[in-house]
Amino acid sequence: MHNKYQFQDQVVIVTGAGNGIGRATAIMMAEAGAHVFAGDVKHLEENRETFERLGIVEAVCDVRQESQVQALIEQAIDQYGRIDVLVNNAGIGMVKQIHQVSEEEWDACIDTNLKGTFLGCKHAIKYMLATGGGAIVNTASNAGLLPRAHDPVYSISKHAVVALTESLGLCHGKDNIRVNCVCPGPVGETGMMNDDIARAADPDGLTQSMIRASPIAAANKRMIRPQEVASAICYLASKDALMVSGTALRIDGGKSLGVPPQG
Ligand code: NAD
Repeated sequence: MHNKYQFQDQVVIVTGAGNGIGRATAIMMAEAGAHVFAGDVKHLEENRETFERLGIVEAVCDVRQESQVQALIEQAIDQYGRIDVLVNNAGIGMVKQIHQVSEEEWDACIDTNLKGTFLGCKHAIKYMLATGGGAIVNTASNAGLLPRAHDPVYSISKHAVVALTESLGLCHGKDNIRVNCVCPGPVGETGMMNDDIARAADPDGLTQSMIRASPIAAANKRMIRPQEVASAICYLASKDALMVSGTALRIDGGKSLGVPPQG
């Protein structure tokens, strides 16, 4: 992995860091010199060796539980006295039509994707206000930019993450706190995508149709990689993006721009 961005001695928290985009981000930032605190509800055991080697502190953190989000953030504060970067990345999918979604499923999706992002922002901003600023990057989705037919509840949750990002960007610029989000399209080598593909009647057909739906992915004959999203998160969290706040950065190979010209 490359270390284009410098995070020397920066204190970074990443949620949903056990797999996929969050794991790639935690590793990329640690390799760039950050003190990374990685929270997740799963995958801790399988990452232990890699995380220990990179000095990444792992912790059980269910982002739906305020006490656990607060504890993760306070672990970093207790050790370093500040937080420079928070990446609210934990998220789950919800591929169902609205009339098939139970109240529990609605709560699981909204609580993980939206409430978890709110809780991270709430507790990190409290400390960032006291220490002169910081950067927050939320993992939204291109489903947060356009309505989506096959997973409306997921799309609703990610629209709300984009709205939260823009609102907090507006509120906290004066406090030197930048808030941005990434909006990935279909990312391969992630738990979320692997689950979708495993559930499909024609897994290879689904993979190929997702590649075709994104012009740049189609031109390169492959899906987006977790590291390509992590790299964008690193940019938004870095001082290179000092003047960038309230942005929803598409990383979907142009998929959400509309219907491309045919032929
Ligand atoms: P992933 O399943 O590989 O990773 C998600 C991680 O979040 C997992 O390690 C999981 O254990 C963790 N997690 C789930 N619920 C949690 C909770 N309550 N508390 C803490 N951790 C929890 O999938 P991914 O694609 O890397 O997902 C990361 C983010 O990217 C999510 O917010 C997702 O919505 C978003 N995203 C993914 C894609 C994609 O195609 N994979 C596209 C757009 C956006």
